[in-house]
Amino acid sequence: MDVVNHRIDALWHKHTSNYSQGKTIKPRFIVMHYTTGWSAENNLAWLLGRAGGSGNTESSAHILVGRDGKAWQICPFNRRAWHAGPSRLGTVADLNSHAIGIELLNPGWLKPDGHGGWVDYHGNRRSTRQLQSDGGYLLARNSRVGSGELAWPLYTDAQLDTSRQICLAIARAYPIHEIVTHEEVDTRGWKTDPGPAFPLDSFRSLVDDYGRESAQPRYKVSASRLNLRGGPATSYELVDPPGQLQQGTLVEALRHEGDWAYVQVVREGSRAQAGATVTGWVHSAYLQRQW
Ligand SMILES: [Zn+2]
Repeated sequence: MDVVNHRIDALWHKHTSNYSQGKTIKPRFIVMHYTTGWSAENNLAWLLGRAGGSGNTESSAHILVGRDGKAWQICPFNRRAWHAGPSRLGTVADLNSHAIGIELLNPGWLKPDGHGGWVDYHGNRRSTRQLQSDGGYLLARNSRVGSGELAWPLYTDAQLDTSRQICLAIARAYPIHEIVTHEEVDTRGWKTDPGPAFPLDSFRSLVDDYGRESAQPRYKVSASRLNLRGGPATSYELVDPPGQLQQGTLVEALRHEGDWAYVQVVREGSRAQAGATVTGWVHSAYLQRQW
């Protein structure tokens, strides 16, 4: 798969009616979603809006991926589709203006129906046996839905395969910083997609593996002087030199442990880091996310 003129050449194409006309975007993120649906045909018509003969005038995405691995592109990547709604990621607000939205056909969570079966977001019922024969599910809680255990139907291998190829093609064409979930950028606090059945880590590492831009999230030191330690607690000795990082130092966070981050210095003030690599642990309260 390759992106040509903001479209993946290998996919089926039709233009949704639901996009911001006259506005172009430069994608920096990919937001992953599920459709809360069971039928690719219905979900495709819905996301196409009037162009698909549906009454939906409010939502869309760039791509829909079905359970058999077939995918449809319904908006060019440089157009603003309507998938993320009110949203924020660090200092970036309104993800629709900065992100490509990929919808995976999946009903999302189902709640127990009180009779040994399950009921989905739209009120459709399914028995445990039906869920099992449809590809299985996992059980997990999500406080945005309630306190009880929910059934989350699994994604298919074919669907995840196609989705990975699409993400790689996009990452080759645009400086994608990160693949994120709708749940983590949604500011209304009720979105739960693509849910625990989605293998997020394997998608995030796809973009890392491709090595575009920085693979690691970058931060600036916001404290005037920030202790750099040998471990994730104040009991660890300072890493000396430099002992402390100056305000404005740019670092990459290689991993996190509780409130602590293991960082590598990229640039100290305006000076690029030359020579020896400086790494150590800092308290993450004094790190400000950069994009
Ligand atoms: Zn979503």
